[in-house]
Amino acid sequence: MNEGGCTGRVCLRCVRHHLDAVHGAVRDGRRIEFVLPAFPTKSPNPAKVLGPLPDLAEELALRFLNELCERISEVYAPGAAILICSDGRVFNDLLGVPDEDVTAYAHALDAMITRIGADRLDQFSLDDVYSGAGHEDMRTMLSAGHAPTLQELREEVRGGGAPLAMYRGITRFMLEDLSGPAWTGTRSALQRKCRDLAYRVIQRSRAWGNLVDQLFPTAVRLSIHPQPCSTDKIGILLADTPDTWLTPWHSVAVETGGRFTLMKRAEAEEAGARLVHAHGRPSHYVLEQAGTPHGPWNRACA
Ligand SMILES: [Zn+2]
Repeated sequence: MNEGGCTGRVCLRCVRHHLDAVHGAVRDGRRIEFVLPAFPTKSPNPAKVLGPLPDLAEELALRFLNELCERISEVYAPGAAILICSDGRVFNDLLGVPDEDVTAYAHALDAMITRIGADRLDQFSLDDVYSGAGHEDMRTMLSAGHAPTLQELREEVRGGGAPLAMYRGITRFMLEDLSGPAWTGTRSALQRKCRDLAYRVIQRSRAWGNLVDQLFPTAVRLSIHPQPCSTDKIGILLADTPDTWLTPWHSVAVETGGRFTLMKRAEAEEAGARLVHAHGRPSHYVLEQAGTPHGPWNRACA
């Protein structure tokens, strides 16, 4: 996040919350462990994504995370691992996403991790915490034990800065996800609903973050959201995209000019991108740039 007076390319204020965790692991010769709340479930809006299951957008992000761990191994032999703490089960009901879709997404992500050989990555979810409980009960137990009150969150957001940016970002996602043909009310009623839902999503994801911190106290905490200088999380960008809030589960992968970026599905289609299938399912888009010759050298590397 472009604020807060970073002191340089490697900012000592930015890293100070994480040095102890890294030093501790190095001192004991342990693997450096990261936790990353991410990969919840696909957006329910078909104008943004290809469907409920992970596709090349997720695969590219998983490959990037695994490579990051491999690069750490090159300078530190015990290496590193990232535990993806999927938060889909934590708030899918607020987005209107069925629990079965969350389960299918997580299973497919597991299969993808195995298929691409991303052996530094693993998944952890609410299903592992309250194993055997009903999904609604899991969310109730999580909120009861770990969530801040809505009043506390509203005060934080009123204070501006990072909490306000987070609130605005989540509200924008809610508006995009719920403004499909299924919404029959007025625009202002939808905005009110989304502002309210945004607080509840932040409340649940904060509860999940608190529980994850408690369960993995020695891990380094990553976040998919932009972070200001000197917080207890390191913001990490999962894809090469001009919109730092865009994630693989809110978009599609688009290959253009020999590189991949993320776009909303409707935007990719409006730009004339061509859908590519892989492993028997819709995978990603290819967007030929003006003046680029058509030919085998320009094929998607699916
Ligand atoms: Zn900094």
